[in-house]
Amino acid sequence: MVEIERQPLQRLHGVLDDDVYESFYRKMQNAAKTLDGRTVWNVNSTAEGGGVAEMLGTLLPYARDAGWDVRWAVISGDDEFFDITKGIHNALHGSPPSDDIWDRAGEVYARVTKTNANQLSRHIHAGDVMLIHDPQTAGLIDSLTKAGAATSWQCHIGTDEANEWTRRAWDFLRPYVEPADRYVFTREDYLWEGLDPARLRIIPPSIDVLSAKNAPMDGDSIEAILRAAAVLDGQAVPAEFVRPDGVVGFVTNHVNRVGGDAPLPSDARMVLQVSRWDRLKDPIGLLRMFADHFNERRDVHLVYAGPSTNNVNDDPEGKAVLDAATEVWRSLEPAVQQRVHLLEVPMKDVDENAAIINALQRRADVVVQKSLEEGFGLTVAEAMWKGRPVVAGRVGGIQDQIEHERSGILIDDPYDVAGFASAVCRLLDDPEKAKEFGVEAHRRVRERFLGPRQLSQYADLMVELTRAARAA
Ligand code: UDP
Repeated sequence: MVEIERQPLQRLHGVLDDDVYESFYRKMQNAAKTLDGRTVWNVNSTAEGGGVAEMLGTLLPYARDAGWDVRWAVISGDDEFFDITKGIHNALHGSPPSDDIWDRAGEVYARVTKTNANQLSRHIHAGDVMLIHDPQTAGLIDSLTKAGAATSWQCHIGTDEANEWTRRAWDFLRPYVEPADRYVFTREDYLWEGLDPARLRIIPPSIDVLSAKNAPMDGDSIEAILRAAAVLDGQAVPAEFVRPDGVVGFVTNHVNRVGGDAPLPSDARMVLQVSRWDRLKDPIGLLRMFADHFNERRDVHLVYAGPSTNNVNDDPEGKAVLDAATEVWRSLEPAVQQRVHLLEVPMKDVDENAAIINALQRRADVVVQKSLEEGFGLTVAEAMWKGRPVVAGRVGGIQDQIEHERSGILIDDPYDVAGFASAVCRLLDDPEKAKEFGVEAHRRVRERFLGPRQLSQYADLMVELTRAARAA
């Protein structure tokens, strides 16, 4: 069981209009009334690392403050189980699993999830509400439903185009998922074939605007953090940031820059992409865009910032993608090389990492997200919150965030390097337009992609599920 601290809902008042906050607050209280002491269980497969754990860690403390008896259980499993569920995860994204897992998957998945369901069943009561997250835990749904709980399955991943591997994973998981009272996906298009659309609910993710990643920063702090991390040229001065517990930290670690130590000149214009080192984030496409279209623009620098790949065991694919990008960087003309920065941002201290990413996003003149596919794309919402103009491919959840030509620019074909280049140049040449998009982008995120919206939707779901449990 993961400990859940209480976080005052009142903290969120500062980022919302009064009427929006009031209605959010009422919704949370009403859900508490309807729940009437029933426990709301969240079940997932890890307490740390990954988007779902981060989301639960951020949102559940507010639900507790609203008076929900909210709990968080993490299932256990052996290496073979997690090997298989990783394979299923990859298949859902359309990639073939590493070896042929399907022969073993049925027996191992059913056994491990059954054991976990038996353990959990001892703690739950009829009428409890169960929020089961992602494929690893779907196997618990049937037993928990039979134990009298109302169940909702949250699928936090999805793909625009299903292929044979996606369908294979759907076919494997569907019998486990089917008995749930509700299916929650992040986009309508992600609902699987064969699941009852009447039970579908759409709840997109949100960003935590009070975290070190998104907290406000003034110009001096941005400058200080980027100098301290050796991103920008200039005399380093103490660079503070605030940790989630309110303690002040200092940026002391430097970024690792491919091909040398020359930081960006302090007056450089910056085009930025923040992403893991992943083929689908298309770092090489981004380098091509810059090499082919920014030759004459000597004041513009490109930054691709990703997490440090020091720990190769953690992410062997990340290292390979960084190596491939490095090869392309080496092939660039020296004059272009100097203006292309592949940065590994230190991960020794996650709050420091978040502060550096925050400062980069705030310093950027234009933010690009050249992903070829994207589930949601938190980096897009983060940059939009910071009032940045974003140019991104019309893929996955990015389409739900950016309204084309209003709060950013969407490029129809994510492989269209020339299209990206011309949109970026347009924004660099028209700072008024860029600012207009940034203002709209901030407004869009404020309306749709903050925690209170997501919590309000969960409050609605609580009411529905409680009624479903009563009716049963
Ligand atoms: N990120 C980070 N440090 C880095 C690079 C990325 O904290 O060095 C964060 C980024 O700010 C975002 C998340 O990793 O919050 C990536 O989420 P997104 O939905 O964009 O893509 P995913 O990695 O889940 O495919």
